[in-house]
Amino acid sequence: MKILVVNAGSSSLKYQLIDMKDESVIAKGNCERIGIDGKITHKTFDGREYVEECSFPTHTEAFEKLVEVMTKGDAAVIKDMSEIGAVGHRIVQGAEVFTKTTIVTDEVIDQIDGLADLAPVHNHAHALALRACKKVIPETTPQVVVFDTAFHQTMPPKAYMFGMPYECYEQFHVRKYGFHGTSHRFVSMKYGEVTGKSLEGLNIVSCHLGNGSSITAIKDGKSVDTTMGLTPLEGLIMGTRSGDLDPAIIEYLCNHENLTVSEMLNILNKKSGVLGMSGGISSDFRDLNAAANEGNEIAKVTLEAYAYRVAKYIGSYTAAMNGLDVVIFTGGIGENAPEVRKGVCENMEYLGIKLDNSVNDGLKGKLTKISAPDSKVEVWVIPTNEELLIARDTLEITGLDKNA
Ligand code: ADP
Repeated sequence: MKILVVNAGSSSLKYQLIDMKDESVIAKGNCERIGIDGKITHKTFDGREYVEECSFPTHTEAFEKLVEVMTKGDAAVIKDMSEIGAVGHRIVQGAEVFTKTTIVTDEVIDQIDGLADLAPVHNHAHALALRACKKVIPETTPQVVVFDTAFHQTMPPKAYMFGMPYECYEQFHVRKYGFHGTSHRFVSMKYGEVTGKSLEGLNIVSCHLGNGSSITAIKDGKSVDTTMGLTPLEGLIMGTRSGDLDPAIIEYLCNHENLTVSEMLNILNKKSGVLGMSGGISSDFRDLNAAANEGNEIAKVTLEAYAYRVAKYIGSYTAAMNGLDVVIFTGGIGENAPEVRKGVCENMEYLGIKLDNSVNDGLKGKLTKISAPDSKVEVWVIPTNEELLIARDTLEITGLDKNA
């Protein structure tokens, strides 16, 4: 059974074709610059590659090209689309409407579109992609939606309510939703798989550190708190997003710089984070580490501030869960930046965290326990795989036979 996993943004459509028999990736690619011009990059498991500059006025043309490349020519991997058992889509915002993975109907697509107010950059694009996908796959092929927010729907009200008038929640649905749920769910489940332990009774802090970063407190396998909020802007300092700050800063700077709130939000989303803090050096930790190693003081402070915020949240979630058993690092930075993991875990002996530096140093992208044998808390690097979890969810909810 082959499942197509789709991650659609407003101008891009990333995809993976996964063989569920052995969960291997048959092909993956990206349709970029939708609505601008267009380019498809497609790679197969056996090293064939296809790249074409094309015209993608909408998501429909991108899907049509994807079907063409997968079924015809030198990089084809299937004879026709009927070989694909189901399509699983990543959806950013499910709000309180979608608490779990769901089979797509026309009503579901409208509901996802209806939540665009809460996720303007993403949800409308997802709805466009769902409608476009329907046009190119056989009518009998089910589509499934997996929500970034769904894993966090187990948070209690004390964690998701903001200290604001109740009407803001009641009328405008202002609350913490959290994101990266599929990643936090994947790595916590993976921890259970590799150690053979049940997640019942365990307090896990999962740190997804990438361009967008978030931390989740996972108790008994369920999300009980997370750093991102109504939008992915809250919480950690990120590549270009500010994370937590005093909301009064917005009015203060709008008045001083004669900016609109939208302009200010653009600064907080795209020009802040480690990119902004470092005075524009980079949002990429490889560049920041290189600059710090050359003695750049602002780069050093930026890296310290990033790690300090992560460490503070690990501490606060330990208090929230009344204990800590496991810390997981994942995401581009969590998996590949030993210096960042070291910076976070330094001076955390009080919480029972002790890294084995001989294992952590130089470790990139490999599932490994990096805590010292006498560390009370286990610390792991667990590479995330959101696409695989979307495919597994899709297989489960459709009831299809993975060996078919
Ligand atoms: P996204 O949120 O876009 O999915 P990723 O999880 O792919 O982001 O993380 C991308 C980030 O990971 C890069 O911007 C970079 O900061 C960091 N990164 C990737 N590889 C390395 C590396 N070898 N060393 C340090 N940082 C790395």
